[in-house]
Amino acid sequence: MKDMFEYAPVIKSTKEFTATRNACKLCAPLGAAIAFKGIRGCVPIIHGGQGCATYIRRYLISHYKEPVDIASSNFSEEATIFGGAANCHQAIDNVISAYKPEVIAMSTTCLSETIGDDVKFYIKNYIEEKKDEEIPHFITAATPSYQGSHMDGFHEAVAATVKSLAKGGEKGDHINLFSGFVSTEDLRQLKQTMYDLATDFVLLPDYSETLDNPIWKTYKRIPEGGTPVQKIETAGSAAASIEFGTILNSGSLSGRVKNKNLTTSGGTYLEKEFGVKNYRMPMPIGVKLTDQFFEILTEVTGKEMPEVYEGQRGRLIDSYADGHKYIFGKKAVVYGEEDFVVAMTAFLDEVGIDVVLAATGGESGKLADEIKEYCPERGDKILAKNGWDYERIHEWCQENKPDIMVGNSKGYYIARELEIPIVRCGFPIHDRIGGQRIKHIGYAGTQELFDQIVNSIIEYKQDHSPVGYKYM
Ligand code: SF4
Repeated sequence: MKDMFEYAPVIKSTKEFTATRNACKLCAPLGAAIAFKGIRGCVPIIHGGQGCATYIRRYLISHYKEPVDIASSNFSEEATIFGGAANCHQAIDNVISAYKPEVIAMSTTCLSETIGDDVKFYIKNYIEEKKDEEIPHFITAATPSYQGSHMDGFHEAVAATVKSLAKGGEKGDHINLFSGFVSTEDLRQLKQTMYDLATDFVLLPDYSETLDNPIWKTYKRIPEGGTPVQKIETAGSAAASIEFGTILNSGSLSGRVKNKNLTTSGGTYLEKEFGVKNYRMPMPIGVKLTDQFFEILTEVTGKEMPEVYEGQRGRLIDSYADGHKYIFGKKAVVYGEEDFVVAMTAFLDEVGIDVVLAATGGESGKLADEIKEYCPERGDKILAKNGWDYERIHEWCQENKPDIMVGNSKGYYIARELEIPIVRCGFPIHDRIGGQRIKHIGYAGTQELFDQIVNSIIEYKQDHSPVGYKYM
């Protein structure tokens, strides 16, 4: 008998490459599920194999410490070969009967995209079949994970939501806030800012309660909170949109759009479709970027920054002066989602920390340009890398010995080996409680980050001091 390998085709790679080891990004429908959780009464369905939904649920529960119900259309071998139309309809029926949702939001997976399942068509048929019944609103987002990260999925989901629900009409005074992927506490802060400004707003998505709710006396199948459909419908008649993030979903899901102004985000869509002016800026971390946020708010609403924020700003600048001597010139590595890395690097640059590596698993190819734009002091000296995984960050750190790491808890093993401090922020935080409540944005969020960073450096010095000290 011939050796089986005699029949195997010889495939020779002409290009050397290293496979991704411990990816610094997550799966696209995971990001979509988070965004869909920010719509009131919404149940996300993942159209594909059961494992995708299980992994996503498990991952989110570990960060948010809440029950996270995400349904699956549960592909079998048959659906994989003949298409998932029947599974799609069955999943919708099951979700309606179990949850009675206001909205069903379906995102696709690697599997359903590979076989070319047309989810929009399946749902159109479903709506036609049930035309005499009361059925929920539907949203669909195409999120093949091999073409994008969780951030691409998140922003695709936000864009799909406004495309499905927003309507035009006479212009109002309200503002759309597309906050990007921030923490639940950041979302609460944003809402408070709008209350303080006495300005009506549409915050999308708003998972501040659905993924971080108060304790319940009885179990709720769908948690309270989220942006109501009726609010989203008014997004097309808003006075303006403010969108945090300059890279958003401009990775491969959107066809590697080189011009960031062409990215199909929620804000871009509303501007093109309904003429709602879109102000796009990085996440407001640090004094400069938070100032920019308030300047935009003033321009749009005609209202000055409320006094309480003047106080927060003043205290933050005062603390910059107090903490400067402990952090100046320290070498930091920042990693995580692209827009998070841009804003965090800009903030560290502002306080005098030398970011030596800014790395992300996202593949827009725009990180270096954005960092140069928002870090005018040292931007061109920062090694900014798209498409890096944790192992590349690890190897780089072993060679270049940074002083501190700033990012999610996935970098912990690198910091532990190097015996350097890590400041946990962003997503995910799997080895602490309260990760979902970390504040990042605004003067108040920056204040907490700044104190944490300075204290981490002081604590490290104190722990490694031969004499120890309790006064400085
Ligand atoms: S990467 Fe693809 S196969 Fe894996 S969980 Fe995500 S969608 Fe499913």
